Amino acid sequence: MQALTVERYRAIDRHRVQETPQWRLLTPELREAVTVVSRVLPFRTNRYVMDALIDWDRVPDDPMFQLTFPQRGMLSPDDYQAIAELVRGGASDEVITAAANRIRMRLNPQPAGQKTRNVPTLDGAKIPGVQHKYRETVLFFPKRGQTCHAYCSYCFRWAQFVRIKDIRFAADSSDQLVRYLRRHPEVSDVLVTGGDPMTMRAAALRHYLEPMLALDHVQTVRIGTKAPATWPHRFISAPDADDVLRLFEEIVVRGKHLALMAHYTHPVELSTDVAREAIRRIRSTGAVIRMQSPIARHVNDRADVWTDLWRHGVRLGCVPYYLFVVRDTGARGYFELPLIRTWEIFQEAYRQVSGLARTVRGPSMSALPGKVHILGTSRLGDEDVFVLEYLQARDPKLVRRPFFARFDPKATWFDELQPATQQDVEFFPD
Ligand SMILES: *Cc1c(COP(=O)(O)O)cnc(C)c1O
Ligand code: SF4
Repeated sequence: MQALTVERYRAIDRHRVQETPQWRLLTPELREAVTVVSRVLPFRTNRYVMDALIDWDRVPDDPMFQLTFPQRGMLSPDDYQAIAELVRGGASDEVITAAANRIRMRLNPQPAGQKTRNVPTLDGAKIPGVQHKYRETVLFFPKRGQTCHAYCSYCFRWAQFVRIKDIRFAADSSDQLVRYLRRHPEVSDVLVTGGDPMTMRAAALRHYLEPMLALDHVQTVRIGTKAPATWPHRFISAPDADDVLRLFEEIVVRGKHLALMAHYTHPVELSTDVAREAIRRIRSTGAVIRMQSPIARHVNDRADVWTDLWRHGVRLGCVPYYLFVVRDTGARGYFELPLIRTWEIFQEAYRQVSGLARTVRGPSMSALPGKVHILGTSRLGDEDVFVLEYLQARDPKLVRRPFFARFDPKATWFDELQPATQQDVEFFPD
């Protein structure tokens, strides 16, 4: 029950981490890596992650340490050296930030056409903080929810957390979203995302959500969150925890499906009393918890990690939903695995769980044309191929039709794959 005593959220950043008792457990090399890499890639953790989730005897290999602490290998050797020299030489914040921004812009901050292809318009003007890629589902980024209780080192939304002008998504209110939704009756789902909307106060969350509840065609409200994993106290002992639960209940009573798209990376996140209590309380409102995560080297690239996570999740009443291929942005070189390896890990885990956990779909790549599901490999004539399908696509007619790409044992992302036959070309629209 020890973890239940941590009640107030306090972000631990690159300055405060040096005041924690665990800082002294790190070797000088690991400390330097944290100091240097955190100047380029966002770093934030909290006491719960540090005290209850990281096993300091296993650092640096501990998966939660890898998930939340910057590691040397996350930057290229040249970039690491450049920033390390500036830091050692006592360069000003301004100089370091300028150097960091040049590196950041090379790290594909907005993958899969988020800025160029997903932003919808209302009367000819782009709507800030909204993305609409798949017909049924609109993504909404409330301004006050553009942070997280801890940052994942593999985050594909990392650009939300660094202060470079014009690369963030953020909306002040849901007014424009609601006007857009009124004209788009085909939208059944609104996915509120970030960052993590559960970093907002209950009142702020209500301010954003309430206006859309009146729209009858909006059947589902989804909230993308990692709070149940990295700050479960949000739902238990935070000053407005009960207000949040009441809001959830109201959404359900108003006839909507409320889904928490809970980002769970590793089974240790389900192992504490607070984590389980948070799930129990959320579920008591009628909300459904669906679990999703990428699979990343150094963090969760073993089949038994996934069998554990899904089994535990199902036991607690959660529904396994997506398993993603780690995306082509940020520190991808550190986390990526060959697609075939990701598929092997998935398949080995999947075949060991009962049907109730086989609601999980994956591995899935969120690529420019859509979510590409790797079904496996096969042979076509005398050629080895990947068998793929779209779970979601900008062009709905591509969905759920098997297609083939030439097998490539090294490929780590969709843009490295080639159509296997002439018939497959239409599935590679970009
Ligand atoms: C994954 C995703 C969705 C939701 O897709 P579902 O298959 O309905 O869960 C919506 N928009 C974008 C941009 C996505 O990547
Ligand atoms: S919880 Fe999600 S948005 Fe937040 S840092 Fe992790 S991956 Fe990124």
